[in-house]
Amino acid sequence: MPRKKIIAGNWKMNKTAKEAKKLIKELIPLVEKSKADVVICTPFTALYDAVRLTKGTNIAVGAQNIHFEEKGAYTGEVSADMLVDIGVKYVIIGHSERRQYFGDTDETVNLKLKTALSKGLIPIVCCGESLQQRELGVTNELIRTQIKAAFAGVEKEQAKNVIIAYEPIWAIGTGKTATSEQANDACRVIRCVIEEMYNKSTADSIRIQYGGSMNASNAAELLSKPDIDGGLIGGASLKADEFSKIVNYRE
Ligand code: PEP
Repeated sequence: MPRKKIIAGNWKMNKTAKEAKKLIKELIPLVEKSKADVVICTPFTALYDAVRLTKGTNIAVGAQNIHFEEKGAYTGEVSADMLVDIGVKYVIIGHSERRQYFGDTDETVNLKLKTALSKGLIPIVCCGESLQQRELGVTNELIRTQIKAAFAGVEKEQAKNVIIAYEPIWAIGTGKTATSEQANDACRVIRCVIEEMYNKSTADSIRIQYGGSMNASNAAELLSKPDIDGGLIGGASLKADEFSKIVNYRE
């Protein structure tokens, strides 16, 4: 069965609740005919309104992080239960900005992934190399390590529900997009690791996004590649017009 594409917006630390409501209202009619799954990952403060406003539409709502513990003395953190409770469906895990600035590691990514799955959230797990790692020629090994570490202890039945986002760090927010060949090669490596860890049917059904300066002009080319099943979109997800053009990309 062909894999359904999935386009997710990562709003990062942008948009107040009021601004988010405006953007969502603009977006709803623009993406209603999408053939792809559409997800918006808003800041925590906009999630409640986002879920309410998108009810009955084809837009699902995601968070940008969770804590791996169920509850307790973790000041400033948000649990999976809290997200599920208000109707959030997806959660980004291990974004490179969280790894770089907030201490996320392969180990915490694994813990967060297992927590998200156990609570019924759909994780979008990020991996990807730095420019230095690409130049050293260690991209494939790095991605293999990140995927193996992230999925350690995850059962086959659960693994296929995970979305993986390949995001080369050098392409995030820089305007430098990976070529569609570079992006597809990395997504292929990820699919091979999933096949090694699980089986061919899991590898064939798992969805792998590309992320890194994807926009309305380059989306169709990237999404035409056989191993790229969608996009995780940062900057270009903050404008309804631009994001909807990616969602409605020409096949
Ligand atoms: C991201 O943050 O996940 C991302 C891909 O950002 P941008 O599209 O702005 O490069």
